Amino acid sequence: MKQITLDQVDPSHYDVIITGGGAGGLLTALALTANGKKVLVIEKENRLGGVWHGYWVDGFRVDQGLHVITRVTRGAFVRFLKNYLSPPPEFVIHDGWEFRVYDKTGPIPSSIGETLRWPLTGWRGRLGLVRIGAKIKTMKLDEMKKYKDISFLEFMESRGATNQVMLDVMQSAIYMAAGVPISEASAYEALRTLKDTDRESSKLASAKRLIFGSSEYDEGYVIGGMEGLIKRVIETIDGDYVLNAPVEQIHEQDGGIIGLTVAGTHIEHSTIVSNIPLWSMDKIVQSTLGTTQEFFERWSTIEPTRGVTLWLGLNKTVIGDRKNRVLVHPNPNRWIVSISSFDPSCAPKGKELVAIAMIAEPGKSVDEHISMMKGNGLAKYYPRILDHIEMEHAQVSYATRAKLIPGQTDLDRPGPRTPIKGLYIVGTDTSGSGVGLQQAAQSADGAVHALMEDAVI
Ligand SMILES: Cc1cc2nc3c(=O)[nH]c(=O)nc-3n(C[C@H](O)[C@H](O)[C@H](O)COP(=O)(O)OP(=O)(O)OC[C@H]3O[C@@H](n4cnc5c(N)ncnc54)[C@H](O)[C@@H]3O)c2cc1C
Repeated sequence: MKQITLDQVDPSHYDVIITGGGAGGLLTALALTANGKKVLVIEKENRLGGVWHGYWVDGFRVDQGLHVITRVTRGAFVRFLKNYLSPPPEFVIHDGWEFRVYDKTGPIPSSIGETLRWPLTGWRGRLGLVRIGAKIKTMKLDEMKKYKDISFLEFMESRGATNQVMLDVMQSAIYMAAGVPISEASAYEALRTLKDTDRESSKLASAKRLIFGSSEYDEGYVIGGMEGLIKRVIETIDGDYVLNAPVEQIHEQDGGIIGLTVAGTHIEHSTIVSNIPLWSMDKIVQSTLGTTQEFFERWSTIEPTRGVTLWLGLNKTVIGDRKNRVLVHPNPNRWIVSISSFDPSCAPKGKELVAIAMIAEPGKSVDEHISMMKGNGLAKYYPRILDHIEMEHAQVSYATRAKLIPGQTDLDRPGPRTPIKGLYIVGTDTSGSGVGLQQAAQSADGAVHALMEDAVI
């Protein structure tokens, strides 16, 4: 894809116009390229990628957010990249989870045997965990759907699963995926995250996994980081892009798309895929149709999750392994990963890049978040990290455009189609299971299928 200016745009050159060049928009463009289509991407910022981004700070390469990609062996995002990038990107799988509850550490137990030996609770807690773990692992997706309108905490309480350590560990695990505490997270999304499935597996397969466990960890970091990945995606897409070009209006006439207005310039086209957040689309889409107004108003209240990531460039290797560490106590929900242990190219030789992530707490400043991250757990359990800081960089950003709360689960999302012929929507708030880039990839997949099915390209 090459960059052009707004006055160079000739809309007749493109099969599809994509408004917004975030993960959803770029992955759609990538799939359209593979289908022989040419796109124009119109982006309001001075770079492509949206929150999917990587850059350099004082010799260390950081991502926007701690992008350890989930479901590397089975997920939509990696499947997408493997299908459409040649050669496919290389992922380094992590070495497992380590949850810290005060002075004890333990993994996520994945089988009955592991649960009965779990070091983080006493025997009563372990038995409770076996019971609820068995229920979750063998639960069918259809049953999970029944719990989409209650919180995970309500679900656990209704099952008598109230052991505090177990709830605290689940709190930390669910927090990372849903972006909200278990008292707010949709039980349906939490159950699906814990079962770690998008698709139904047979009862036998679930029971086998439950009894024998699964040693297969499925999260990984991509070599070259997000910076390298996005660069390759942009290079592969067939088409052009315009930066610093906010889409002001998208126009409908007689039920179909006729074009859009960008920085005062009108561009005619009958096929648009919009990656603009759904919460602002009701102000952008100009339509006299009541159904269209209703549609976009309905989705204008979607709320995002916010994450804080603290990047620490250390003057020597302190952690040096590929574990995903989660501090459950005394401060919950801190996620610590040594990124340079996955990809040494993101730190100068002999130095280490460590990322610490947490979900942002409403009303707190960046400095308050940083001192929460450095204080307490980190100071107590990893003081050597604090002794060797050479570079410090904090980011606050939304991690996904829809919290996984009741009313915002994937079952409630609109999908790729809108009431307007020729207008499709993509992004993490439109469709898809999983979180972040998985959702973006699922949404892109959905939009491309819809474009094909409707025979508009
Ligand atoms: C802290 C953090 C950690 C993360 N960790 C992970 C992880 O480990 N694994 C994972 O899978 N995902 C992770 N993600 C999430 C993932 O990066 C995002 O969810 C995903 O990139 C969002 O893609 P999107 O298409 O929904 O949207 P966005 O990034 O919101 O893209 C929308 C684009 O549209 C543009 N736009 C908006 N309005 C207009 C307009 N009017 N005109 C033109 N352009 C417009 C925006 O500038 C942007 O480029 C993380 C994100 C963060 C921030």
